[in-house]
Amino acid sequence: MSLTKKMATAGNDVNPRPFAYRKRVLQCDGVSLAALAESHGTPLYVYSQQHVLARLAMFQQAFAAVPHTICYAVKANSSLALIKLLGEQGAGFDIVSGGELERVRKASKKSLDRVVFAGVGKQVAEIDAAIGAGILLFNVESEGELALLAERAEALGIEARYSLRVNPDVFADTHPYISTGLSAHKFGIDINAARGIYRKARKYKFLKAAGVSVHIGSQIRAVDPFGKAMDRVVGLVMELREDGIHLTHIDAGGGLGIEYTDAPFDPEAQVAAYAEAVLKATEGLGLHLLLEPGRFLVAQAGALVTRVLNVKKNGDKTFVITDAGMNDLIRPSLYQAHHQILPVKQAAGASAPVDIVGPVCESGDFFARDREMPASKPGDLLAILDAGAYGMSLTSNYNTRPRPAEVLVDGDEARVIRRRETLKDLFGPESL
Ligand SMILES: *Cc1c(COP(=O)(O)O)cnc(C)c1O
Repeated sequence: MSLTKKMATAGNDVNPRPFAYRKRVLQCDGVSLAALAESHGTPLYVYSQQHVLARLAMFQQAFAAVPHTICYAVKANSSLALIKLLGEQGAGFDIVSGGELERVRKASKKSLDRVVFAGVGKQVAEIDAAIGAGILLFNVESEGELALLAERAEALGIEARYSLRVNPDVFADTHPYISTGLSAHKFGIDINAARGIYRKARKYKFLKAAGVSVHIGSQIRAVDPFGKAMDRVVGLVMELREDGIHLTHIDAGGGLGIEYTDAPFDPEAQVAAYAEAVLKATEGLGLHLLLEPGRFLVAQAGALVTRVLNVKKNGDKTFVITDAGMNDLIRPSLYQAHHQILPVKQAAGASAPVDIVGPVCESGDFFARDREMPASKPGDLLAILDAGAYGMSLTSNYNTRPRPAEVLVDGDEARVIRRRETLKDLFGPESL
C-alpha cells in the first residue's frame, strides 16, 4: 500500500474526516477538490457541512441524558455560514468579543439567548452590547470585571447573569500556548478565592449568580483532566449551596482534542469517554450543563487546498513551495502543529522527504518539515487536512496577501461562503 493510500484511509474502519480518494482524486464528500480549486482558485478552505452536523449530533447524543447546551466556541471558525448552520441545530455559542457577538446576531439571532461570553479583557461597549442582546451569561474572569459588569447592568437597568470562570489548577498535557488551567496562566479566578467572591457579589442588585465555568485548555486528548477539573468545580458548587447561593448552570468549557496524524481515531468513542468523565463528576447535581467545544466540531471538517508553485533543492533538502502561506494557516508555525498533507491527485511514485513551505518571507513559514511525500511538480494541488479549526479564524494579511476563499460542501454540491479577498478590500481602510 502506498504511503498516500495509507494516509487517506488511516488504516482503520472509521474515517474521521470527510476527505477520501475517488478515482484517485481527493474528494470532500461528493465533490472533487480538483474541481473546486479549478472553479474557485487557491488557496481555498473547503468544509463539509455534513461532517460538522455529525460532530454536533455526536456531542448532543453523548450528553442527551442531562439538560445541556452545546455552546460552539466561535473563535475556532467564525464563519457566518457555520454559525447559522449550528444555530439551526440548537447550538449555543461561546464568544470572546463584541465582534463575535455581532456574528451570532447576524447569522443566528434567535441563538443570542444561548450565548456565553468569555475573555479576560471585556470592554464596556462589548459588555453593554451583550447585556442588551440578552445573552445567557457572562463568564467572568476577575473581581474587577465583576464590578464592571455590575456597574453596566445597573446603568442599563437590566439584570446580568454571570458565572465565575475558575482556574482549577489542573494540568492538561497540550501545547503551552493553548494550556489555560494552571495558576500560572492568565485565565480564570483562583478556585480557592471564588467562594468569597460569589458571597461578596450578593451586594450587586443587578447581578445574578447563574453558574460556574472552567476551561482548562485546547487539544486535550486524555479525558481525566476534564473529570478532575469538574470534581473541583462541583466542590465549589456544594460550598456555595451552604452559603445559600444556588447556581443553575455548570460550564465544562471546551478543549476536547482530535487526532491530527494518520493514527486511528474514533471521534464517537472520544466524545463518549469525555461525556462519561464530565457526567460522572456532575452526576445528581441537577444543574444545566454547558459545553464549549470548538476544534472538535469543525477541525476535521475542513482542508486547505493549495497549489504547488515551485519545487527547489537547497543542498540535499527539497522545498515544495505552495501558494498558501503561514498567513493562511498559522498552526504549524505557531504551535509546531502537525497536519497531514495529501496530494489531491493520488500519486503512485516513490516518496521522499520534503519541506512544504509557503511564499511568506519568514523561515517559520512552513506546513511540514522532512515529510515523506510523493514527488510534486509546479501546478499540483495539495490538501492540508484538519484545517477547519484555528485555520481561517487565525489568518492575516501579512505580506499583503488577501485571505483565501471558503467553500461549504453539502453532499454533491458546494457553495462559496466567503469570497476571496481582493487588494481593494485590503486597501479600503487606508489613506495616503
Ligand atoms: C477556545 C475556547 C474554547 C474552545 O476550545 P477548543 O479547544 O476549540 O474546543 C472553549 N471555551 C473557551 C473559554 C475558550 O477560550
